[in-house]
Amino acid sequence: MIYDHILVRYGELTLKGANRKKFVNQLRANTQSALSSFEELKIKANRDRMYIEITEETDVESVIDRLKEIIGVKSVSPVLKIDKTLEAANEQAVAFAKSYEDGDTFKINVKRSDKSFPMETFELQRTIGAAVLQNTDALTVDVHHPDHTIQVEVRRDAIYIYDAIIPGPGGLPVGTGGKTVLMLSGGIDSPVAGMEVMRRGVTIEAMHFHSPPFTSEKAKEKVIELTRLLAKKVGPINLHIVPFTEIQKQINKVVHPRYTMTSTRRMMMRIADNLVHRVGADAIVNGENLGQVASQTLKSMYAINHVTSTPVLRPLLTLDKEEIVKKARAIGTYEVSIQPYEDCCTIFTPKNPVTEPNFEKVEEYESVYDFSEMIQRATNDIETLTITEDYQSEKELDTEDLANDLF
Ligand code: ATP
Ligand code: MG
Repeated sequence: MIYDHILVRYGELTLKGANRKKFVNQLRANTQSALSSFEELKIKANRDRMYIEITEETDVESVIDRLKEIIGVKSVSPVLKIDKTLEAANEQAVAFAKSYEDGDTFKINVKRSDKSFPMETFELQRTIGAAVLQNTDALTVDVHHPDHTIQVEVRRDAIYIYDAIIPGPGGLPVGTGGKTVLMLSGGIDSPVAGMEVMRRGVTIEAMHFHSPPFTSEKAKEKVIELTRLLAKKVGPINLHIVPFTEIQKQINKVVHPRYTMTSTRRMMMRIADNLVHRVGADAIVNGENLGQVASQTLKSMYAINHVTSTPVLRPLLTLDKEEIVKKARAIGTYEVSIQPYEDCCTIFTPKNPVTEPNFEKVEEYESVYDFSEMIQRATNDIETLTITEDYQSEKELDTEDLANDLF
């Protein structure tokens, strides 16, 4: 089928007034940038939907593959804009139906938003349905569970006709909800947490605590890859790599072994807080989940959270692990997350961490050493990478260069 438009429906249609305008403008901008490699497209965003005009050369499937990943898009359909006549609608409906398998069922669904059109909705449905039956051999009508639904929208400017609706992720367009710092560990949870807030329109800057030589280059590569997978959905993401070795060593020197985990998290939080101020964010996001491990009891969260007054968002707080895994698979990060590279906390994890830390106690342990200078240094020495969807790590580039040198 040769289409001439792609119709994009918005999620969150309940938004009103200025919010709606902001939503539409942001979604249009995000769509434009996601589709920037398709120069021929013309995007027109109305209050309630978007039409993308395509040409005969457009690779419709590739455009739709991109569109269905854009947060804020509820669904998309390749459509044909046809003359506002019954004949044109009949002809096109029949053309759709001719591509269906023998024995398939169909129905015609008419939406008549232009009330001046001379035929009523029901009459249109019946007439177009009859035309399809007359011009095909082995199709029948099923209004309840049809294999195909041919949608005929009679609008002011034209009739739009289509028979496929491809779901998108829904949510609010990224860029409408402020900015957060995402603590990205390389595990299963934190990329999902990032995706959850992005679905509420929030922009993220990712941060990762790296403790070479206790954590390998591979662990860093893994976090870069996870960030790249998220960037594929929302455009470039800044990834801040924090040198954390010095602090971890110092914690191990002065803090009771049962409390090193709590203290590590508190130091991370203090650095995250610095980054929040540096990048103009308003919250920290992490992948914590109530009761999953020792550091994620309520008491533990209290002790960790005590170092900052910045809101800490925990979108996965109450989910089952199974649900989180399902989400990780759906966004495509699961396979990368389960690669076995260690993260900085597992290396220093005590055998028997306290599950209900007393925050006064951890403060007492930490008080024997003034960590503030180290924290400042770690913040100053953050390495920031801008990860695009086609980002190639230096390592890969090195090997490529090497190969080029050899031949
Ligand atoms: P994840 O699967 O995200 O690693 P988890 O269930 O393994 O989560 P923890 O390892 O206890 O839980 O970490 C809890 C949260 O702390 C993580 O979800 C992440 O947001 C943050 N975090 C842990 N380690 C790091 C790290 N090295 N760099 C950045 N954030 C981290
Ligand atoms: Mg982890």
